[in-house]
Order: sequence, then C-alpha cells, then structure tokens
Amino acid sequence: MATATHQERTPLVSVTPRGLYCEAGNFHIDPWRPVERALVTHAHGDHARSGSQRYLGAAPGRGLLQRRLGADAVIDTLEYGEALRVGDTTVSFHPAGHVLGSAQIRVEHRGEVWVISGDYKRTPDPTCAPFEVVRCHTFITEATFGLPIYRWDDPRLVAQDILRWWDANREAGRSAVLFCYALGKAQRLLAELGRLTDRPAYVHGAVNGLVTAYREAGIAMLPTQLVSETEKGMSFAGALVLAPPSAAGSTWMRRFGEAETGFASGWMRVRGNRRRRGHDRGFVLSDHADWPDLLRTVADTRAEKVLVTHGYTDPLSRYLRERGVDASPLATPFEGEAED
Ligand SMILES: [Zn+2]
Ligand SMILES: [Zn+2]
Repeated sequence: MATATHQERTPLVSVTPRGLYCEAGNFHIDPWRPVERALVTHAHGDHARSGSQRYLGAAPGRGLLQRRLGADAVIDTLEYGEALRVGDTTVSFHPAGHVLGSAQIRVEHRGEVWVISGDYKRTPDPTCAPFEVVRCHTFITEATFGLPIYRWDDPRLVAQDILRWWDANREAGRSAVLFCYALGKAQRLLAELGRLTDRPAYVHGAVNGLVTAYREAGIAMLPTQLVSETEKGMSFAGALVLAPPSAAGSTWMRRFGEAETGFASGWMRVRGNRRRRGHDRGFVLSDHADWPDLLRTVADTRAEKVLVTHGYTDPLSRYLRERGVDASPLATPFEGEAED
C-alpha cells in the first residue's frame, strides 16, 4: 500500500511512559500504567492492567477482561471487525488467534493504517477465532518466539501425544500432572483433548475459574473437576491434572502420590528448558506465532514499515532488514513472556 508523506509526520502510534499512545485518537493500547482510555488486545496480565478509567476490547473477551480488570472496571466492547470513531481515528478489533477474545487493533487516520498485533498465532485453536490478516502501512508485531529454532508441530498431534502420556501413566497407576499457562493454554488443552476422549480431568483453582469463563463463552472442553473439591484422601492414580507452573514443587502436589509431571509450552522446543524445570515430559504447544509464521504474517500484511516488540525484537527486525523490509525494534517494557 502506498502513502504520501507519513514518514515526516509524527508516528500515528508511539511509545510513551504509560504505554503505546495514539495522539490522533487520544488513547493508549495495552498501557502499563493507568490512563484515561485503554484499548486492550487481550486479557493476559502484561496487556490488560487495572486502574484505567475506561477500557475498550473485543466482545468475545469481555468475561475474561472483566475478571482480570475487576468488577468495577468500565469495559466497552466491539465485535470483531466493527469500526468505531475515536477522536480523529477509526479503530477496529480483528481476531489474533492467541486466546479467547484476543485481538489485533487496527487504527486508521486520514488514510494511514496501523495494526498493533498484540500476541498472535496462526496454528488452529478450537477455543478462539482464527487469526485474520489485516493489510496495513505499519505493523507492530510481537516477537515472543522470534528465533529460527522455534517451529511448531500440528497441535492435534501434540494432543495425541499428551493423551498417550496420560494413558501410559494410567496403566502404571500414576497420576499425570500437566503444567500450563492458566489462561488460554489450559483451556486449549482441554478443548483439544475433548476431541479425543471424554474422561474428566482435574484442575487447579487458578485454572478452574478461567475454564468456567470459557464454558460461559460456549467453548467445548473435557469435563473438569476442581482438585480442592475432591474427597479428602481420594486417590488420583490414573488422573490427568492441569495446574499452573507456580504449583510445581509446592505442597499442593503431595496429594497426587506417585506422579509424572509434564509441561506444555512453546519454550519446550528447547530441551534444556525442560531439564531446568525438572519435568518428566515437555510438550511443545504455544499460543504465539513461530518463526515461519512471524515472517509469513509480516509479508501478508504488506506493511511498508514493521516495528517489533515483545520478545526477540533484535533478531527478528535484523532478519527482516536483511531482506529489505523497513523493520526496527520498538522498545517497550514488554520483555517477552516467560509464560506461554
Ligand atoms: Zn498473551
Ligand atoms: Zn504478551
């Protein structure tokens, strides 16, 4: 897409001490400090922070946003693709394929279009709308897994692997405790496994409320039972348990008796990460774009300029520059996600 002279003007979106800011619309995007008006890409804690006066997000994520930001937070929503005039700009939210309700934010001002990706992925996920390519002049992309070593397998094969691991532990009379990010990954695992079996799974309290929110949004998943609501002294032999990484090594684990532990994350692509965490198994399943999909997405947007934030900003922008793309890192406090 060709534009005349926007290079010389102030950028439509820039980094300020409170977060990404659009002056023409007088709003922030995923601000890290309280602001008047925050547009939020999704409900993960490093993107949706409480304290702002008003929020605007994508409608399918409303329940998750309210849960994250608090019952008193003022949250307006737009359907995916629905346009709203904000100040001198027109904004809309488009599916990012990352977690339920996650969105890329499109901002248009006098014919110039920017898209802020938030977190995104291109692999299929039964718990959220698939990523939509949005053409733009400037694309702000995340780069959580912006290194060539990160490439994902078909998530359905990963789910089959997890089921085989669960079965093997069942036969051995052990429980299988699978650690995963409580918002998004846990529900995606339950949805993928729900296509393969109807055996119930047990969940940690930190996972349970979010599973409820997904069920309320109509997402089909395995039946679940809250670990803390089981009878005292019940045997978990043969059970699959989903828990957040913070529960690993805690006294909460004792009730499971003989157990194998696994971890489902994009970080499991690097074997050393699993060893450092001390788990028996690592399953490579990410809610972010892998290296080929980051490159594909940048190309698909046909952006003239690419700004890279959130993760491996330098390697990705350098690679793009070497291939003739006008790309540079955009320094923000998003250090990239330890959690995925
Ligand atoms: Zn996220
Ligand atoms: Zn993020």
